[in-house]
Amino acid sequence: MEVKGFDLSSATENRIAETVAAGRFPHACIIEGGSEEYRLELARKIAGALICGNKETVPCGICSHCHKALKHIHPDIEEYYPKTDKGKKEEAFSADYVRDIRDKVFIIPNEADKKIVILSNAQRMNDTGQNSLLKILEEPPGYAYFIFLCPSKDYFLDTILSRVTVWSLSGGTEAEGAAFTREELAEAAEKMIKAMLSGSEYEIMKSASVFDKNQKLLQETLPVIKEILAAALRIKYNAPEETGFETAAETAAKLPAKFIAELIDFIDELWESMNYHVNLNLAISRLSSRLRKAAGGD
Ligand SMILES: [Zn+2]
Repeated sequence: MEVKGFDLSSATENRIAETVAAGRFPHACIIEGGSEEYRLELARKIAGALICGNKETVPCGICSHCHKALKHIHPDIEEYYPKTDKGKKEEAFSADYVRDIRDKVFIIPNEADKKIVILSNAQRMNDTGQNSLLKILEEPPGYAYFIFLCPSKDYFLDTILSRVTVWSLSGGTEAEGAAFTREELAEAAEKMIKAMLSGSEYEIMKSASVFDKNQKLLQETLPVIKEILAAALRIKYNAPEETGFETAAETAAKLPAKFIAELIDFIDELWESMNYHVNLNLAISRLSSRLRKAAGGD
């Protein structure tokens, strides 16, 4: 399925579009960072893509779901904002308010086959409110998608964070995704692949150590490793091409196509699992041991 309307120059939007296209958008996520407006705009884009009834391209822009989503009147896209409770001064997601929202999620969608629940400024939710969501986030109804928007995921309890995918935006659209340059990511990826091709366990551990305490670097390097492997596969099947990666041709020469394809699947799966708060050290050790296996050729 093709997904339209996302800013693919943003690493995070790119990944979000990929998961929507694959039909694997998480049922509960936090979008942190960026500006309040950008977060809401992105959440609405996601909701529009999820709710569209088209099978090939979303949002198609012409179905009744798209029309309503664009006018922000789709009954199955619910937006919630902090509000002032009786006798209180501050606008907040009070525990009662959160429980009301939660209970309404159990009502099946009106028109679409999905229901998207967006909570803007979700940082204004206390622990009691958050705790009342644990169960539904653990096992959300199949049609339900929760999107929490906040400046930082640190406002949430660990028990919530372990149940959601976190998408991070830094600054506005421009600054987002600019944490590492393309060269830095390519370098880390090529080192990993070189180490794998060398077959040396030590080299693999050494090149993996650059990711220690650097979750974001690993998360952004994995797609580049995948790019190199995909280029290697194309070299195997077609005429050699100019890939821009030193290691692509060597990978193609040394590894059977089946191995490379399996490695690509593994990288995909690992990348996906990192969005679900898989422990960084565990991810690094899974990557290292999988590359040792590829190098050993079994
Ligand atoms: Zn549509």
